[in-house]
Amino acid sequence: MAHVAAVVLLLAGCAANGGPGRTTDALGSDTSGTTVTRTPGLGPDAATTRPLDGPPGAMPRRGEVKEIQATGSLPPVISSIPTNRKVVFLTIDDGWEQDPGFLAEVRARRIPITAFAMRDAVEAKGTPDPAGGPGQFVGAGKWGYFRQLRDARVPVENHTLTHPNLRLLGYDAQRREICGSSIIIRRQLGTRPTLFRPPFGNYNTDTLRAVKNCGLKSVLLWTATVQPGGKIAYQVPDKRLRPGDILLLHFRPNLARDFRILVDKIKRRGFELGNLQAYLDAATTAR
Ligand SMILES: [Zn+2]
Repeated sequence: MAHVAAVVLLLAGCAANGGPGRTTDALGSDTSGTTVTRTPGLGPDAATTRPLDGPPGAMPRRGEVKEIQATGSLPPVISSIPTNRKVVFLTIDDGWEQDPGFLAEVRARRIPITAFAMRDAVEAKGTPDPAGGPGQFVGAGKWGYFRQLRDARVPVENHTLTHPNLRLLGYDAQRREICGSSIIIRRQLGTRPTLFRPPFGNYNTDTLRAVKNCGLKSVLLWTATVQPGGKIAYQVPDKRLRPGDILLLHFRPNLARDFRILVDKIKRRGFELGNLQAYLDAATTAR
């Protein structure tokens, strides 16, 4: 039953960390009747001839990114990247639905994303988030899917083992969730996570202590969520993308289609997709 409650919380509560109520934009109104044009160089045909070298996505320019101050000795909690450039960042959580079509899309178009893997989702233990409809590829590739994402230059970061509301757990239990996740990612993928995303955005000081002690550098929240159909649910009332926004998606059914809609919408609005790791390095490295 705890998991059912968690799923409900996820729908209502992924952005429940204090923002002024979410509103949903009218995707239909700005796409109906318009022809989707792809940015030159990002179409599938261009991508097949481009080698997988160099980091994907827009890289920060010198002096572009303001510094994110750490609070004391604890890791910083980051909801957006401090820049004035029209650049946003895509993050994708959990890992229930493992659609090969989405993997192909990310690989072919070299789109920068950051994945936050949650063990029970990746291994298909329990009940997936029902919000996206019935899944075709629930747990289909297990960690192999994330190994393929890793090979497509996608950083795979920490999102706990079981997706608990961390505020309801003591320090030791939080530490088991967070360190345990880093250990399994290291064992399965050979990479060491540096970012932590708390389920539902819920955290407290014990979380930050555990994050630090598990060897992670930053806690990453988000500014807007992307819903099925590619609709952006903003945490600000004026329904606009802002420079430095971090968008949250989930590995859900139809992600490949929703992702195409979203990426095209972002580009139509004149935004680039940024390389999150490079921007975080620029924002958190003392200069
Ligand atoms: Zn999650």
